[in-house]
Amino acid sequence: MAVDVQTTTVTAPAAGAVRRALVVDDERVQRLIVAGTASKAGFIVDSAASVEEARALLAQHAFNVVVLDLSLRDNDGIELLRSLYTGGTDPVLVFMSGFDERVREASARLASALGLRVAGTLAKPLDLDRLVTLLGSLPERPHIAAPPNYADVTPDRIAAALTNGEIFCLYQPKISLRTGRMVGVEVLARWRTTSGDIIPPIAFIPVAEAAGLIERLTWVVLEQAGAALRDWHAIDPTLTMAVNFSPSSLNNLGMPASVIDLLDRYHLAPETVVVEVTESAVMADFVTAAEILTRLRIRGVKVSIDDFGTGHSSLLSLMRLPFSELKIDQSFVRSLLHDPESPKLVQAVLRMCEALGLSVVAEGVETQPVADALLALGCDVVQGYLFDRPLSYTDLTRRLAAQGTA
Ligand code: C2E
Ligand code: CA
Ligand code: CA
Repeated sequence: MAVDVQTTTVTAPAAGAVRRALVVDDERVQRLIVAGTASKAGFIVDSAASVEEARALLAQHAFNVVVLDLSLRDNDGIELLRSLYTGGTDPVLVFMSGFDERVREASARLASALGLRVAGTLAKPLDLDRLVTLLGSLPERPHIAAPPNYADVTPDRIAAALTNGEIFCLYQPKISLRTGRMVGVEVLARWRTTSGDIIPPIAFIPVAEAAGLIERLTWVVLEQAGAALRDWHAIDPTLTMAVNFSPSSLNNLGMPASVIDLLDRYHLAPETVVVEVTESAVMADFVTAAEILTRLRIRGVKVSIDDFGTGHSSLLSLMRLPFSELKIDQSFVRSLLHDPESPKLVQAVLRMCEALGLSVVAEGVETQPVADALLALGCDVVQGYLFDRPLSYTDLTRRLAAQGTA
């Protein structure tokens, strides 16, 4: 098909306007079948047999959807992905391929990572009913609310907040799916400003880290949390408490002794306290981190890998450290039911942890089907809004008293 390339300004289709589809496939018959199906589904359809033809058409028209064959004669369909977003329009993608499911899903993930929307993937031979379903439910780009402006979160204000007691802790329960009981809590910092606004940690932790204030903040949090855990042990002495540590704490060889000192002052059994660190924090200075984590473990304190799966660390190096727990990141948990790879990865992680004697916590459980899937995979302990949001000291105390002793 000869395409006459013209330089035109492509504008996104107006709401309610006719919808336009681009079919990219080097096999003529497939192209005709898909184009015919899209046309019946109410689209104006253009077809391209190669990446070049597709690029030319994308420069001329605004498309709502691009149905893309992953294996084209001269190059692969993936090549087109980068051109898609830069063209000024923002079509939804449907992938087709004779490759196995893993290749199709990896392509969908790649597209999502590039910021593109993906309606779904189709195996060949094509299931035309599924194509019609996908074309009929193209995902909208979610309306992202403008993030609140925390430009006034300055190191000076954080330093003052630390001095004035404006930093406080919330506690999110960790739940055993098998027993339904709260088995521990994670401490999450918040900042209540003098005007009453609550500022989330994402807005002030990075500033505190960059300004060298994070060690002070960690200890303000630990003192409050230590006192709280001492109170809660009167109700349930087995309750554990996890505290988030920043990368700089893994650089401070005095840290384990300070933690032990705090445990002594609040009469806390070391095995009820969990130090949470991220993969990347460990990798920043591996040898020092290894020393600190080992010292904590020797004293009985537990250590946990937070946000597992988001870093790019060597799995083998990571697994040689004396971790007692691994937290599966929310991104895997959230995709459990719609990304066929996710349950396999979660299962592999569970098996590895079982072999190494690590306990596992799944984070970000928001729905019952996800909790059911995790339990079926053999994951017991979870955290998430389905069960509890982070709670105040008072609410957590009430929650703990209500569940009684085990
Ligand atoms: P994190 O350690 O991964 O903590 C889990 C975050 O996920 C918390 O956000 C929690 O409120 C949120 N979360 C829990 N369940 C769900 C759920 O079902 N759905 C969703 N969408 N989110 C859920 P939060 O409290 O805003 O904390 C964000 C991050 O800030 C933490 O991520 C941690 O990295 C950091 N942070 C919080 N407190 C501290 C602290 O005292 N020290 C340090 N260094 N970092 C902290
Ligand atoms: Ca954490
Ligand atoms: Ca986490």
